[in-house]
Amino acid sequence: MMSKRKKFWSGNNRFRLMLTLELAVLLPAAALIYLNFHYIDSIKRKGKVETLIHSEFQYVLADSEKKINQKVYSMTEEARDLFPSPDADTDSEKEMKLDLVLAKSPWLAHVFLFDAEKGFLFRSQPQQMDDKDFREEHERLSLVYRGWSSLDGKMWKEELHKKNRLISCYGGQAKRAGGYAYMTTALFLLPQLSKDRLVLGGASFDPNYLKRAFFPEMLDELITQKLSEDKGEPLAMMVYPIDSEGRPEDQALATSAGWGKGKPEVSRNLDDVFRGLALGVKFQGTTVEAIGRRWVLQSFLILGALSVLLVGGLALAYRSVRKEVDLARLKSDFVSNVSHELRTPLSLIWLYAETLELGRIKTQEKKEEYYRIIRKESERLTALINNILDFSRIEAGRKEYDFRETDIAELVRNTLDAYRYQIEQQGFAFEQRIDSDIPTMNVDREAIARALVNLVNNALKYSGDEKFLGVKLYRANGVLKIEVVDHGIGIARRDQLKIFEKFYRTGDPLVHNTKGSGLGLSLVRHITHAHGGEVEVESTPGKGSKFTLSLPLAAATQQPANGAALGGTAS
Ligand code: ADP
Repeated sequence: MMSKRKKFWSGNNRFRLMLTLELAVLLPAAALIYLNFHYIDSIKRKGKVETLIHSEFQYVLADSEKKINQKVYSMTEEARDLFPSPDADTDSEKEMKLDLVLAKSPWLAHVFLFDAEKGFLFRSQPQQMDDKDFREEHERLSLVYRGWSSLDGKMWKEELHKKNRLISCYGGQAKRAGGYAYMTTALFLLPQLSKDRLVLGGASFDPNYLKRAFFPEMLDELITQKLSEDKGEPLAMMVYPIDSEGRPEDQALATSAGWGKGKPEVSRNLDDVFRGLALGVKFQGTTVEAIGRRWVLQSFLILGALSVLLVGGLALAYRSVRKEVDLARLKSDFVSNVSHELRTPLSLIWLYAETLELGRIKTQEKKEEYYRIIRKESERLTALINNILDFSRIEAGRKEYDFRETDIAELVRNTLDAYRYQIEQQGFAFEQRIDSDIPTMNVDREAIARALVNLVNNALKYSGDEKFLGVKLYRANGVLKIEVVDHGIGIARRDQLKIFEKFYRTGDPLVHNTKGSGLGLSLVRHITHAHGGEVEVESTPGKGSKFTLSLPLAAATQQPANGAALGGTAS
């Protein structure tokens, strides 16, 4: 009845523990992991990573265009500052100064100055005038800008005044040795002049310079800048011409380093300085799609690893909490077991001592029996209290062993002799074999005796009808062995390791009905380990058990002790 209730409670405790762990940890964690899986999956299905990268690319392109424009504006301003003054200089001085502008700014192909009052000057890079296409361009543009300035100049002046830079650029095609090329022309007002004067300046950027130097350098610079800002995947950029409908024409005008092959992931039609061109961007050596795939894979892997860790951690937590719960149960069992065990001998001692005191026992024989019972019960009490004291010293890490040169054979014989009467009284067949070649050894006498007493006591306690006790002391392969054999209830295989743990008692009904603290074997193990030895059990449930202590003979003085003799056999 008692045991059933206990089992129910301990089972219930575990159930509660599992429930708590599941509700408090597993459930929220599983929900979190599930939601995350779901979330990553939806990110994957909707291509959100790609969208995000694309919008980042849009931003990069817009920013790059701004920086490119800035550069062109400041180059134009540099040239504009060298332009002749419309009022102070004569025509020939103006021509000279325009030539100087060209000489100082080799990136310019043509410059011109239109003055509504004083006429139109158009100069081109002199060293390129040998080229036929260039000469034709010079002739054509000179005519075009002259006509255009006098026709629309006024309107342009108003337009430029609205812009705070006073500069506007116009892209167009030019013919060069390699075919058609892209040229942009900056139109500007001279800032030092009054608003009423109609004077327009112009500077055309040389197509070859744009293609070979300006764009490649600019793109590389933009990419390096971006890479140093955020250490992501390196980018590559390209500038290419588009047709009037915004479709890309076949060839790139310029690419940055690391462009390789392939199309831009995102592009932007430039619409200020370089109208007619588009700027494209992609990753060096990888695609947005691949990065998206990699991100999703990595996220799943991390989540998977987290789940595994979580389950592992939970299993560990469950195990250690379960151990604690079991230990707490064992401890409470221990307290009630020990109280029981103390009470029985005490009440027996009390009872017999009182009877003797009252002088009711007349026969000497009876009196002696009572004395013996009192002594035996006191011994049992002492043994139990010694066990508990030893245990508490071990637990507190204060157990000390007193190693002394000891005649082991004699120690074993004396210990068994003290028990012989009790053994035989209980109807046990007792077999004792002590070999003659047992050397003296350096051991703690009391501890070894206690270990042996615990083993013998267990053999007596846990035997049913087959009452047999065998004790052997012999040496084998450099090891001293003390064997204690019984034909009792035996120990199931799964319990054979656990019985050496503190407080552990098997669930066998006979064990339950027998008093015990669950400390004996844990002490035996501690004592043997302290002597550098091992304790082992071989057992078959229903057939009996054999406990073997092995103590290394290295600690021995190697000579058979004096008086060691063949142990007798008693029954
Ligand atoms: P106690 O005997 O006080 O319960 P022990 O530590 O000596 O504590 O033993 C632990 C458990 O091992 C016992 O409760 C019992 O279940 C089992 N056991 C020990 N010795 C034997 C044996 N000789 N035969 C069967 N079971 C044993």
